[in-house]
Amino acid sequence: MNHYKLLTPGPLTTTSTVKEEMLIDRCTWDTDYKIITQKIRADLLELAGASKEDYTVVLMQGSGSFAVESVMTSAISDQDKVLIITNGAYGDRIVKTAEYIGLEFSEYRVAYNEYPNEDTIRNILRQDLDITHIMMVHCETTTGILNPLDMISKLSKEFGKTLIIDAMSSFGGMEINVPDLGIDYLISSANKCIQGVPGFGFVIAETEKLLECEGNSRSLSLDLFEQWKEMDRDGKWRFTSPTHVVAAFSKALDELVEEGGISARFTRYQNNNQILRERLKKLGFQPYLSEEKQSPFITAFLFPNEQFDFEEFYTFVKGRGYVLYPGKLTDEDTFRIGNIGEIYQEDMEELCNIIEKYVGVMTK
Ligand SMILES: *Cc1c(COP(=O)(O)O)cnc(C)c1O
Repeated sequence: MNHYKLLTPGPLTTTSTVKEEMLIDRCTWDTDYKIITQKIRADLLELAGASKEDYTVVLMQGSGSFAVESVMTSAISDQDKVLIITNGAYGDRIVKTAEYIGLEFSEYRVAYNEYPNEDTIRNILRQDLDITHIMMVHCETTTGILNPLDMISKLSKEFGKTLIIDAMSSFGGMEINVPDLGIDYLISSANKCIQGVPGFGFVIAETEKLLECEGNSRSLSLDLFEQWKEMDRDGKWRFTSPTHVVAAFSKALDELVEEGGISARFTRYQNNNQILRERLKKLGFQPYLSEEKQSPFITAFLFPNEQFDFEEFYTFVKGRGYVLYPGKLTDEDTFRIGNIGEIYQEDMEELCNIIEKYVGVMTK
């Protein structure tokens, strides 16, 4: 039935057992279903290394961007100002979201292949005393760059700011200890490293911070505080929830544990990524980023030459069982290959064999 595998960073290839959970119709206000929601919330806290005394989890309908917008409109009030650090399209989306909501914000932008600079951020925070919140994407899925979370965490603590991290494409795929890093809001979604199907996002929040958010939201459906208040009572979602997706996600969380937890998954992803990068390099495909900035989740590759036709390449590879991802850079020609999801070493080897064949055809 699976006619091809997705090498995209979400939706991604999921197991048949995760998909099977969606064959049952569940009732949103039934106890069995509410128990699933509560179990998911507890599991996510555990993955984040957070205690239920100090942290809580809110699930939010929609894709990941809905959860990001929900945090922004609820956690950042009209009296606040957020510093948005960006080096990619998802950071740019955060800026756009701030504009839509009408938030007070300041933007620190660096090139897509560069890390934000510690001294620059320190200067911004010293000079602009209005800043109350800092927001950054952890793994910028645009390029695959893994931004320096430790550095931002240190600065945020030093200056006493509220820290919001979009860890959409990294949470579940690498250890992120939310309390240790002093993250106040961590945002991710069902269809990335936890390997569920798309339909909702989730927010791991420091409860005390969340309690201050009442009445802030400019949106009814995206009100994180109200969503939490209702859900925290007994696991009932405020409005219709994606029941099939929620059940599948619960199963995906169980399978993450069965695999050996986040560290085992990280090792698998890293191994996938290394095989991919090493073999493609030999075939003439240079990664966009230098190695030390590269995350183990997704890699952007430069077109190997001027004649390279991505459409043709994409169709060739798709016809042989794998779907790649187009680039998202404006100034350079790239394409991307994700290696998360139900993807193993054998898939990477097979993919590279297919690409090797394509290169052979191309150079004839
Ligand atoms: C996937 C992703 C999002 C959310 O994108 P949606 O299309 O709304 O799911 C946000 N930030 C990052 C870094 C992502 O990878």
